[in-house]
Amino acid sequence: MSERTLEEMRVAYEALEARIADACKQSNRPRESVLLVWVSKFHPLEAVENALQLGATDFGENRVQEAVEKFSVKRPGVRCHVIGPVQSNKLRHAATVADCIHSVADVKSVLKLERICGELDKTLDILFQVNTSEEDTKSGVSMAEAEQFLLSLPEAPHLRYRGLMTIGKNTGVAEDSREGFAFLRHLRDKMLARGGVFQDFTELSMGMTGDLEVAIEEGATMIRVGTALFGERVYPPKI
Ligand SMILES: *Cc1c(COP(=O)(O)O)cnc(C)c1O
Repeated sequence: MSERTLEEMRVAYEALEARIADACKQSNRPRESVLLVWVSKFHPLEAVENALQLGATDFGENRVQEAVEKFSVKRPGVRCHVIGPVQSNKLRHAATVADCIHSVADVKSVLKLERICGELDKTLDILFQVNTSEEDTKSGVSMAEAEQFLLSLPEAPHLRYRGLMTIGKNTGVAEDSREGFAFLRHLRDKMLARGGVFQDFTELSMGMTGDLEVAIEEGATMIRVGTALFGERVYPPKI
């Protein structure tokens, strides 16, 4: 597979926007209530440049190194989202490049991010990843432990706890993700109602190319879309 040209990407983007608009209409939600995060992982800088020409403002990368390569030079009005699990020794790079980290799942990382962001004199948005598919291969806090985990979070003046993230079930059937998405929404509502450190806990990052309609119906405020925009990813060979 070769990279899409700007024109191919424009066609893909328009088709995706039609899907998003339909899903919003279906659930009586304004289009502006759903942020599209363009997941550019494994695609080159040229793909990002094309996306920018189409008006993309938010990009998602799941590896910190790749995020640094493409987004450490800040562009005005453009935000970088780190959406994959971050090893402890990469938190500093992640906190530096990212405007939002979607995949925090342990208190130790929260404490380290707070310290780093204090040093950087920066306020960072973070989301907590919940493993709603209960597949061992996916990271995140388990559904059974999620609420306890959230209640154990410290006050962190340099972090803004913004909400929850999950990856739907990867069965090929979008409906299979619905239960997990609904779980995430209920948990978000519960925490937001507590106020305090959860006063800004409004976000639900859920829905990808295969299940974004279900996610929007269940209240997603951010959808993370790669394949539908950029085409198939070519993964580097494992050495
Ligand atoms: C790769 C990835 C996506 C995008 O998936 P597509 O199916 O290509 O849209 C979304 N979220 C996360 C966490 C990812 O790693």
